[in-house]
Amino acid sequence: MERNNKADNEFGVNMRIEIDNFDDYRKSCREFLEREIVPEHQAWEDNGLMARSFWEKLGQSGLLGISVSPEYGGLGKHDYRFAVILTEELIRAGVTVPGIVAHNDIIASYIFALGSGEQKQKWLPELCLGKRVAAIAMTEPSGGSNTADIKTVAKRQGDHYLVNGGKTYITNGINADLIVVAVKTEQGQQGQGISLLVIERDMAGFSRGEPMKKIGWNGSDTAELFFHDCKVPVTNLIGRENLGNYYFMSAMPRERLSISAVAVASAEHILQSTLAYVKERKAFDQPIGSFQYNRFILAQLDTEVKIARVYLDNAVEQFSKGLFSLVDAARIKWWTTELQMKVADRCLQLHGGAGYMRDSVAGKNWLNSRAQTIYGGTSEVLQEMISKSMGL
Ligand SMILES: Cc1cc2nc3c(=O)[nH]c(=O)nc-3n(C[C@H](O)[C@H](O)[C@H](O)COP(=O)(O)OP(=O)(O)OC[C@H]3O[C@@H](n4cnc5c(N)ncnc54)[C@H](O)[C@@H]3O)c2cc1C
Repeated sequence: MERNNKADNEFGVNMRIEIDNFDDYRKSCREFLEREIVPEHQAWEDNGLMARSFWEKLGQSGLLGISVSPEYGGLGKHDYRFAVILTEELIRAGVTVPGIVAHNDIIASYIFALGSGEQKQKWLPELCLGKRVAAIAMTEPSGGSNTADIKTVAKRQGDHYLVNGGKTYITNGINADLIVVAVKTEQGQQGQGISLLVIERDMAGFSRGEPMKKIGWNGSDTAELFFHDCKVPVTNLIGRENLGNYYFMSAMPRERLSISAVAVASAEHILQSTLAYVKERKAFDQPIGSFQYNRFILAQLDTEVKIARVYLDNAVEQFSKGLFSLVDAARIKWWTTELQMKVADRCLQLHGGAGYMRDSVAGKNWLNSRAQTIYGGTSEVLQEMISKSMGL
């Protein structure tokens, strides 16, 4: 695989991954994560921060910018199954997912789809090499569910905007070098006058808080961002002024599908490891998985997880063909993430006290699953959207 980079041996090993075949790609992802990432992941969890070196290793390996064209340093693979395989392997390895998906899948796609030729040349190669880390900032302290109600203001003054306001709960918020920020460029009705600006690390008037202490996904950094008369060149406007809400809605199917892929992979993973556990662990002189109550619980979960897999595979196919709507994305996102939470909860119960321990696989899955029904659109907001599409 040709990659627009210089030193594939910068980390002392040959990390270049062959991507033309799904099985080989999966094998390479697995080997790369086990060799390079798993040994240091506990330190990320302890610090609440992904190591910067990780991004470059990931970039050098060819795992970033899967859908970005080779002209800009990516791999030009539009089949979304590649992105799903990476997610599945991250889950399998127990490596934090949200920051990687945000950088790799969501922000790179925004810039690739909407950026000018100059912007793509400026940002994408470095994003694909992991030399710069990206974040997307929509949510504000006053509320995240109503994405049309943006209060951060950008006033145009000649060749730049002056941005004032703040964002919260931003994934990669500490590490990010460039952040796609939703701002209000024109007052008026909710949802109108929103634009997307790229705010970069050293811009005057931009600061961030300490890493936020979450209950799950501890290896991924999350932060508050503050803009005080932050001077952003007009050339950092993504797409056209005042069309931000439209762009945001167009990008939502991908973001929600990526979260659904995390949900299904996590549900499969936790069910599989629980099955192994209940066959070994005994109570009343018999394996706990052999009690009828537990067998039925596991049979039900197994059925639902298999339904979720079929649903996801179909959605991925539809997405890759450009046939996946905002409402389709809302349906699969709320349903698979609620299922993930249910599976994680039942499986923790089957582990007894061991599942309640912070560092247990069951405990971590339970905590990680909790965010899934919140970010990327809460289950309630998504069901509002679906019901409206039904004429209700
Ligand atoms: C780990 C994590 C990472 C995140 N990463 C990012 C990121 O990278 N970028 C970013 O921009 N944001 C990010 N977020 C923020 C996330 O998108 C918001 O938390 C989410 O959109 C909900 O907004 P809120 O927290 O302000 O909740 P609120 O909007 O205050 O909602 C609170 C509750 O009210 C409910 N509610 C709201 N409206 C309705 C309604 N119409 N009907 C019924 N119930 C309703 C909601 O469903 C929810 O249960 C992240 C959040 C978390 C937890």
